[in-house]
Amino acid sequence: MMPVFAVINAGSSSLKFQIFEISNLAEPRVVYRGFFEGLGEQAHLIVKDHCGLLAAKQTWNPDERFGHGEALVHLVSWTRQHRAGYKLVGLGHHVVHGGLEFPGPVLVDDHVIRTLEALVPLAPLHQPHNLEAIRIIHNRLPDLPQVACFDTSFHCHQPRLSQLFAIPKEMTERGVRRYGFHGLSYEYIASVLGHHDRSLATGRVIVAHLGNSASLCALDGGVSIATTMGFSALDGLPMSTRCGALDPGVVFYMLREMKLDADEAERILYTKSGLLGVSGISNDMRTLRELAPTNADARLAIDLFVYRIVREAGSLIAALGGIDGFVFTAGIGENDAATRAEVLSALNWVGFNIHEKSNWGGARRITRGPGPSAWVIPTNEELAIARHTSSVLHAARQRLAS
Ligand code: AMP
Repeated sequence: MMPVFAVINAGSSSLKFQIFEISNLAEPRVVYRGFFEGLGEQAHLIVKDHCGLLAAKQTWNPDERFGHGEALVHLVSWTRQHRAGYKLVGLGHHVVHGGLEFPGPVLVDDHVIRTLEALVPLAPLHQPHNLEAIRIIHNRLPDLPQVACFDTSFHCHQPRLSQLFAIPKEMTERGVRRYGFHGLSYEYIASVLGHHDRSLATGRVIVAHLGNSASLCALDGGVSIATTMGFSALDGLPMSTRCGALDPGVVFYMLREMKLDADEAERILYTKSGLLGVSGISNDMRTLRELAPTNADARLAIDLFVYRIVREAGSLIAALGGIDGFVFTAGIGENDAATRAEVLSALNWVGFNIHEKSNWGGARRITRGPGPSAWVIPTNEELAIARHTSSVLHAARQRLAS
């Protein structure tokens, strides 16, 4: 029997997954990719094999009440039945926040679930959905091992100064500190830097994860030394609907002068701000790019996004003491040549010499000349999770065998 495991990324009404063949020695190999959408309403499932050929397609009626629980159970039985010879041996989960407790991936048990529940207020948009998927399997299929992999872990060895807020030390001891996110994406990028340019793997690199959620990370020799996100996934760059860095005085103003309660203030900063808030039109970069030539609000939202990336990049260049490379990744970073051009042109003073044809032509390296280089490297958080899941499951089997 070929052991396989599934990597799960659970959202509010969606569940993305990939199924990997597991081998103790080699890199896990993806064999199926798929997603459920419309969970809790009109759910549907699409699965494709590694060549992109359709392997499954199904729709459920709203009255069937097909939610996350049903989707996970369906996925487990689909994986077990779809291909004779496959044995599902575990699940790997993308979990946003691991707090101080989890500096690396962990095999899920009751204690892990309780600890992750306590971190919900630090990532209210994502952690509850990540956790719900874990809890459902833990309750319904308790013998199926689950591995939780965290977006925060990659940053946990940052220098102390990068992790501290200037607040009373009792608060720091309580866990109020900078954690950073998108760690699985940064970890994957760090693992492939050397395939593109050997000197990048050992050099000073800024990775810009620019998707609906966005942050920058400073890598020194592939290790995170600073990042723009902090205690929660609100800090740093403006995002599709999140505000990014904000004077904390604004929150007091919202509470005292605007008479909002904490939940309303949180909702505005997480879901009504960023590209959506500034433009008043859309949270989607593609839409804003289409409108920008004739719409001043769309243009302003993009300009602020780029300006903040450049400002934060300057701060990370200072933390690194210089820069050898800049990597763009995630939806905007990988696909929006205009954003890349605007960022690199504003960072001209650092020595980036953008090569327009490469930037617009889909090349990996988009600069020329002797200065620092810039790159477009697609991220693969699922593979980072798969690598961890494979090794944690392997270690668990070894422990059982000994
Ligand atoms: P992600 O969260 O990584 O899926 O990224 C989503 C963001 O990427 C959205 O703002 C999309 O508009 C943006 N995006 C995806 N494709 C393109 C594209 N071709 N041009 C500009 N933005 C894009």
